[in-house]
Amino acid sequence: MFISIKEAMSQQKGKVSIRGWVYRERKSNKFTFLVIRDSSDIVQCVLKKEKFENQWQDIDKLLIESSVEIEGHIKKDERAPTGYEIDVDKINIVGYAEVFPIKKDQSAELLLDERHLWLRSRKMTAVMKIRSSVFSAIDDFFRSKGFYEVAPPIFTPNACEGGATLFEVKFFDDKVYLTQSWQLYAEAMIFSLEKIYCNSPCFRAEKSKTSRHLAEFYMAEMEMAWADLAQVEKYAEELVEFIVQRILEKNSEELKILERDVSKLEKIKAPFPRITYTEALKILKEKENLSIEWGKDLRTVEEELLVKYFSSPVIVTNYPKEIMAFYKPSDPKDPKTALCFDMLAPEGFGEIIGGSQRETDIKKLIEGLKKEGENIDNYQWYLDSRRFGSIPHSGFGLGVERVVRWICGLDNIKDAIPFPRTMLRKSP
Ligand code: ATP
Ligand code: MG
Repeated sequence: MFISIKEAMSQQKGKVSIRGWVYRERKSNKFTFLVIRDSSDIVQCVLKKEKFENQWQDIDKLLIESSVEIEGHIKKDERAPTGYEIDVDKINIVGYAEVFPIKKDQSAELLLDERHLWLRSRKMTAVMKIRSSVFSAIDDFFRSKGFYEVAPPIFTPNACEGGATLFEVKFFDDKVYLTQSWQLYAEAMIFSLEKIYCNSPCFRAEKSKTSRHLAEFYMAEMEMAWADLAQVEKYAEELVEFIVQRILEKNSEELKILERDVSKLEKIKAPFPRITYTEALKILKEKENLSIEWGKDLRTVEEELLVKYFSSPVIVTNYPKEIMAFYKPSDPKDPKTALCFDMLAPEGFGEIIGGSQRETDIKKLIEGLKKEGENIDNYQWYLDSRRFGSIPHSGFGLGVERVVRWICGLDNIKDAIPFPRTMLRKSP
């Protein structure tokens, strides 16, 4: 019976059978050392020529990424990379490998070209395990708070985050767009379920080449009937704390492989500080001598400078109403600004969440849509949410890859998803 490498090591001694791929190999006259990996870990295996006289020629042909089944005796060995060594009694070569195209210290571009193979690396394996934990943390958090998971459509007839980043697709004899956000559908569904969430793909034709924009990404969105902005801000910070704590609990080995400074993550405890957009401009002016005209959105560089002054995520509220999507209402206390927030991650990782209260006044919604150049006819179904028992409601969207990137401490968001899509990359 095969067991995982991790199980074999926790057994500590005695007979074990494992299977996996050659991660490293070193050959001499009398010995072959193979480090074998599987999804759980790596372990060093030693093959003595005297035991394998008949098979030695075949063993000699084993290159990195060959697949093998191994039976042997495991014991502690401090010199081995993970502290154990298997003295091999039997080896079955399942599949030989050609010369592996990825060597040490290769360029980021080559690693993206060979992404299908690079996903086998310890780094990417660690990131993908953390990503999986983030998905389950999101589910556990919302379900424990009484939210229903719903599936928004991917093909949509409407824009909701601005026409400039829409992907148009042929839909029989017509055309539709790939969804940018579940927003309009969520606002229709709260009338039956009240508290809902999704974790769904979103598509945006981002033309800017930043380290935090993908053309295809996952957004975990929540929408809540009767809630005001302050209530959903609280959910947002609790969710982020919950995800980070879950990863610290479940994925300490992966964080070690990624050489992540966990002391920075251990500090993430809600509540997070709140500042307004106007205060953010003031900090940038006073501390960085950077003047931003009131009314301009914060760009990546500016967010990076701003978060230097916070060791936890920070909630920035009251962005200028003018630059916000049509469904974000203005703040009665400061009508030039919207009842909205962004959450920015520390260490320069920037925006991870965007949220707001939603406009309930149908006249203002129509005005806003017209201003964005939208055809109101296409939005009649959405406007019905304001015609049949309209209620106050609020929600937010969390960029899953943004969060994975921050938790893993990755240079680029592309490493937070298995097969990244950007303006310059659509394969493999
Ligand atoms: P940004 O200003 O960074 O482009 P945004 O204001 O367009 O973000 P929202 O429309 O508020 O973002 O979307 C909610 C969340 O979705 C963002 O906070 C972010 O975490 C994530 N997100 C948005 N666009 C992308 C993208 N192109 N790639 C990855 N994640 C994204
Ligand atoms: Mg954007």
